[in-house]
Amino acid sequence: MTKKRIVILGAGYGGLRTLKKLQNMHPDADLVLVNKNDYHCETTLLHEVAAGSTEAKGICYPIKQVVDSRQTIFIQDTVQYVDRAGKKIIFEAHPPLSYDYLLIALGFESESFGIQGIPEYAMSISDIPSVNHIRRHIHHQLAAWQEDRDETHLTVVVGGAGFTSFEFLGELTNRLPKLAARYHIDKDQLHVICIEPTPHVLPMFNRPIAEYGSRKLAERGVRFVIGRVNRVVPGHVYYKHEDDLSVIHAGTFIWTGGVRGSSVIEASGFIQKRGRVNVNADLTVPGNPEIMIIGDCSAVIDPENGRPYPTTAQIAIQQADCAAHNLNARIQGRALKPFVYKYKGTVCSLGRNDAMGQVMGKNIKGYPASFMKKMIENRSLVKIGGVETMLKKGRFDFLN
Ligand SMILES: Cc1cc2nc3c(=O)[nH]c(=O)nc-3n(C[C@H](O)[C@H](O)[C@H](O)COP(=O)(O)OP(=O)(O)OC[C@H]3O[C@@H](n4cnc5c(N)ncnc54)[C@H](O)[C@@H]3O)c2cc1C
Repeated sequence: MTKKRIVILGAGYGGLRTLKKLQNMHPDADLVLVNKNDYHCETTLLHEVAAGSTEAKGICYPIKQVVDSRQTIFIQDTVQYVDRAGKKIIFEAHPPLSYDYLLIALGFESESFGIQGIPEYAMSISDIPSVNHIRRHIHHQLAAWQEDRDETHLTVVVGGAGFTSFEFLGELTNRLPKLAARYHIDKDQLHVICIEPTPHVLPMFNRPIAEYGSRKLAERGVRFVIGRVNRVVPGHVYYKHEDDLSVIHAGTFIWTGGVRGSSVIEASGFIQKRGRVNVNADLTVPGNPEIMIIGDCSAVIDPENGRPYPTTAQIAIQQADCAAHNLNARIQGRALKPFVYKYKGTVCSLGRNDAMGQVMGKNIKGYPASFMKKMIENRSLVKIGGVETMLKKGRFDFLN
């Protein structure tokens, strides 16, 4: 009898952690991992590359560090869609690949919510090419100011005041004094503006913690503007507050207002909302027991409020442990177990040695929170890449 084939799509937090756990179980199956790049990216650190405080190579490591070639074949290609009826993956370059069991962990994409101009003119913090683009763009704007003295080049607008926005603004405001010096700009001429529809920033935190974050950023020069981004054209960001339409002239516009699951989900015909599928308790897809979906492409309902849990690396990693167990159980013909989420807290970085968050019901801020954030990042490196990867790529800059 031929062995069953398990295919894992995506080598991010969910997919690569599932592979690692599954390889340790030595299932009687052929394993195939698919990813568009040959590296794993620590997505939770993308904002550092966007702001220019970390190089892209500092937040990535080769997928082959995790792949056990005796058990797993790695295919580097972009998935176009899943042919569920034919049980095949359709790629951009490779011929179709059949599967017996499939795990989809293809992560997120930026969501424009239909706002005019966002897909064409906004930049997003979503992957290595996108953050390298932001970093280069900011440099080009400052260099352009040296040529024409047009102050539009000196304004950065961030749409959205959520987690990614705050982490990026924290890094950027640390970095701006150096950039100003490099391009001989008086730092008071640089403007950083954050637009958000409500005064309640960072809804995942309690008010004292969220207010700590906005106060810190405001002290570093960020101006918070209440309004809903309405339209974006090159050099202009239009926003609306109640009935008033205003415009900001800005050379840089970064959209952090929302994310959706991978477009592969919609292209594959799953019942979904914004690229996310409501999965069963055991992470399988209703009507497709041979397919599991985890991470940002999945929606798991929080029994406490009936709403989906927020999409985070924390939940993707925990789902991965359950998915690996369930894939192995499928091969062995055993029953699957339900996924149970254990929330461990959230810490949001505010740049160098500053952060804020809630961990085990306690508020933390400043240096202790930043220390905790680095420990969380190192732990995630160990969980997926192993100790060697953590020693090479971990965060040990506790004093600067
Ligand atoms: C700036 C930032 C900061 C964040 N901070 C935190 C934090 O502090 N804590 C937290 O818990 N969460 C945080 N998050 C959220 C977290 O990064 C995501 O929830 C997490 O990455 C989701 O994991 P995943 O496995 O679903 O997908 P990902 O980790 O995004 O992995 C998806 C993988 O699929 C690959 N892929 C995508 N499309 C295709 C395709 N068509 N074909 C082939 N391969 C493809 C990608 O290359 C990638 O390797 C942050 C996100 C951002 C952007």
